[in-house]
Amino acid sequence: MKVPFLELGRETEEVHAPVSRALEEALRESRFTLGPAVGASELAWASFCGAGHAVGVASGTDALALALGAVGVGPGDEVVTAANTCVPTVAAIVQAGAAPVLADVDPRTGTLDPASAASAVTERTRAIVPVHLYGQCAEMEPILAVARARGLSVVEDAAQAHGAEYRGRRAGTLADAAAFSFYPTKNLGALGDAGAVVTDDGEVAERVRLARSYGESTRYLSVTRAASSRLDTVQAAVLAAKLPRLAPWNERRRSLAGTYLERLAGTDLELPAEAPDRRHVYHLFPVRTPRRDALRRALEALGVETLVHYPRPVHKHPAYADLARSDGALSVSERLSAETLSLPLYPQLRDEEQSAVCEAVLRASS
Ligand SMILES: *Cc1c(COP(=O)(O)O)cnc(C)c1O
Repeated sequence: MKVPFLELGRETEEVHAPVSRALEEALRESRFTLGPAVGASELAWASFCGAGHAVGVASGTDALALALGAVGVGPGDEVVTAANTCVPTVAAIVQAGAAPVLADVDPRTGTLDPASAASAVTERTRAIVPVHLYGQCAEMEPILAVARARGLSVVEDAAQAHGAEYRGRRAGTLADAAAFSFYPTKNLGALGDAGAVVTDDGEVAERVRLARSYGESTRYLSVTRAASSRLDTVQAAVLAAKLPRLAPWNERRRSLAGTYLERLAGTDLELPAEAPDRRHVYHLFPVRTPRRDALRRALEALGVETLVHYPRPVHKHPAYADLARSDGALSVSERLSAETLSLPLYPQLRDEEQSAVCEAVLRASS
C-alpha cells in the first residue's frame, strides 16, 4: 500500500460544505480585506485559546514579527530562540529588526532548553521566543522565570500548537503574546497564507492592529509608521468555518499518535514523548534513530512517504551561518536534525494506512 505523507485533499473534501458557504458569503459581501468575518474569526480564535484578544494578520511569520514589535522589540535588540526550528521563526526576528541568538533544545522534546536559553542572554537581549515544536508546548515555567529575572518579554511561536496545552492552559495564553500560523498544512489551516497574534494584553493587541494596516487608527489617519499585513476576509471566513473541526481533529491526531506509540514501542526508535504537564496535539510525529537515512530509504521502498523536520538547524542554512556558536552550544539541535524522521500523521490518515506504516517500520527495523 502506498501511504503519502499528507493528502490535504481529504481535509478539503471533509470541510467542503461549510467552506463553500463561507466563500459564498464572502463573495456576496465583497469586503475583501478586514471585512466582518475577520473580527468574528478573531473573537472565535481568542475564545478557543482562552485569551483576551486575537488579531488576524497575513501569515504566521508576520504574526511573530508584529508580536515582537508590539512587545517592544526593535533594532539593536537580541532575541533568543531555539536552533531546532524552521527558518520562519528567525526570519520573523530579523523582520522585527532584531538580531536572533540561537540556543539549544531539550533532547526529549526538541523544544527550547531553558538553561541554554538563559546562557544565551546578554545585556542586549530583549525577548525570548520558545517554539511549541511538533505540537507540544515548550517548557514554559523555567523560560518565563529566566525572562522575569531579567525583565525580558516572551513571545510564543505557536505555529504548530493550535490547542496544545501546558499545565491546563492553551498555547497562546502562556506568555506576553503568541504567534499562530494558519498555513494550509497546520492543525488549523486556511486556503493560503494567514496568521494571528494572540495576547491578553489589550495594548499589545492594539499595537498589532495598527501595525497590520499602515499604522492607521482610523481610515487615512496613520499614528505610527507601519507597513501592512492584513488577514483576507475570505481566509478569516474559512478559518471560522473550519474551527469547529479543530478539537476533533486534534483528538484524532492524539489517537493516531497513541497507536504509533503502542505499536512501535518495541523498536529501537526513540518516540515522541508527551511531557506529563502538557497536552501534545501532534502536528507532526517525529521518531529518532541514528540510522535515519537508511530507515527513510527502506520506508520509501515499501511505499511509505516520510519527511524530515528539520533537515538542518537554523545556523546550518547559508543565510544564517553567522548564528553558529563556536562552543558546541547547539549540539543537541545538530544531532536531532541528523536523526529525526516524521511519519505520516494527520486526521484523515486511515487506520489501514497507519497499519501499513507500522508494518513497514517494523520490517525496516528488524
Ligand atoms: C509554519 C511556521 C511558521 C511560519 O508560519 P507561516 O504562516 O508559514 O509564515 C513559524 N514558525 C513555525 C514553528 C512554523 O511551523
